[in-house]
Amino acid sequence: MAKTAKATKAVVKTEQVNPYEAMLERFNKAADILKIDERARKILSRPERIVRVNLPVVMDDGSTEVFEAYRVIHSTALGPSKGGIRYSMMVNEDEVMALAAWMTWKCAAVSIPYGGAKGGIKCEPRALSEGEKERLTRAYTAAMANVFGPDSDIPAPDMGTDDRVMAWIVDEYSKLNGNKFIPGVVTGKPLELGGSKGRKEATGRSVMLTTLLALKELLGENPEGLTVAVQGFGNVGSIAAKLLSQRGLKVVAISDRTGGYYNEHGILINQAILYRDQNDGVLEGFKGGEKISNKELLELNVDILIPAAVENVITKENAPHIKARLIVEGANGPTTPQADEILEDKGVWVIPDIIANAGGVTASYFEWVQNRRGHYYTEAEVNDRIDQIIKEAFERMLHKAFRHKVSLRLGAYLSAVERVAKGLELLGKF
Ligand code: GLU
Repeated sequence: MAKTAKATKAVVKTEQVNPYEAMLERFNKAADILKIDERARKILSRPERIVRVNLPVVMDDGSTEVFEAYRVIHSTALGPSKGGIRYSMMVNEDEVMALAAWMTWKCAAVSIPYGGAKGGIKCEPRALSEGEKERLTRAYTAAMANVFGPDSDIPAPDMGTDDRVMAWIVDEYSKLNGNKFIPGVVTGKPLELGGSKGRKEATGRSVMLTTLLALKELLGENPEGLTVAVQGFGNVGSIAAKLLSQRGLKVVAISDRTGGYYNEHGILINQAILYRDQNDGVLEGFKGGEKISNKELLELNVDILIPAAVENVITKENAPHIKARLIVEGANGPTTPQADEILEDKGVWVIPDIIANAGGVTASYFEWVQNRRGHYYTEAEVNDRIDQIIKEAFERMLHKAFRHKVSLRLGAYLSAVERVAKGLELLGKF
């Protein structure tokens, strides 16, 4: 009882942001500047399709649980829709709608031939056994059999899902389609089943790459010795931390849902990754740094801050206390629109999610291409192609932002929204 009351109080205190409204606010700003056709604005303000299902799953103890699940297709104007599937207790329709739209803007911003989608199942993935997770994933795939498809809608991993989950989707989807092996229906697969070299590291890699580009082109600084704090130590945060420390930056703080760890001399990232992998995927008890809270991590006196966990962590409450000069968004939607304004006034550079973490979906694109061609690239080939695409998208963002004298986020939205609106027009949708 006391615990609930405390939790409610904490929620009331922080800024309440509906992620879909946060997305719309940025989209509308871009649409205003671009003066896009009002019919395009109308179409893009809503998802094309929302599929909501309740999935009954037999649990290990013989009981039956019913799970709330979604797949939202925001746009297919530029190609089949693309986007991950999230397993989390925070999943709800508005969140999945926002995440789906962000995929539309992300794919358009980096100019890969996809629309945007996202899926989600409201569950606590850590509380499920391997068998329960498999049955839930297969039930979800069966329910989405007419939505998913290599030419229509292509899922991938997101929070709470991984290559193992993607393998079950391939198997279930292939079974439902006359036992034809169809690896191109999902990306982020294990290498043995048509996954791509470099896919797992790709999101963290683009965070690293865009950090270095920003240091060089915006701050005019040498990366060597600059300090970094990374929030979130999953696939994105841990790889970004590793790659940045390999390039001479000093990662002084990391965190996950169990809290933060600070070491002014720099955290040994490989040691932290090993510790996490041997401890149920969490950093709890890690001795490589002094314990701090996630809140303290965001406000540390560092050069670079990398939010790589969930939405809405940089808010109007903490934005005034942020000391980093550069924020690189590994997570989707970590900064609220009000926080954006505060950071802009303070002169903090923010590399937006749709550019900074776009390496993941870009690698997914190359995985899908390899599946279709049946020809596989080396890791160096995949990385070179991804780096090239991210660099070009970064330059387009800068160009738009400087030309219109707007934030980098709006610059990225301008190039994305322009492209999608043009696609709709060319298709004759209005
Ligand atoms: N879930 C990742 C994202 O938010 C990857 C999506 C994909 O590869 O389709 O970008």
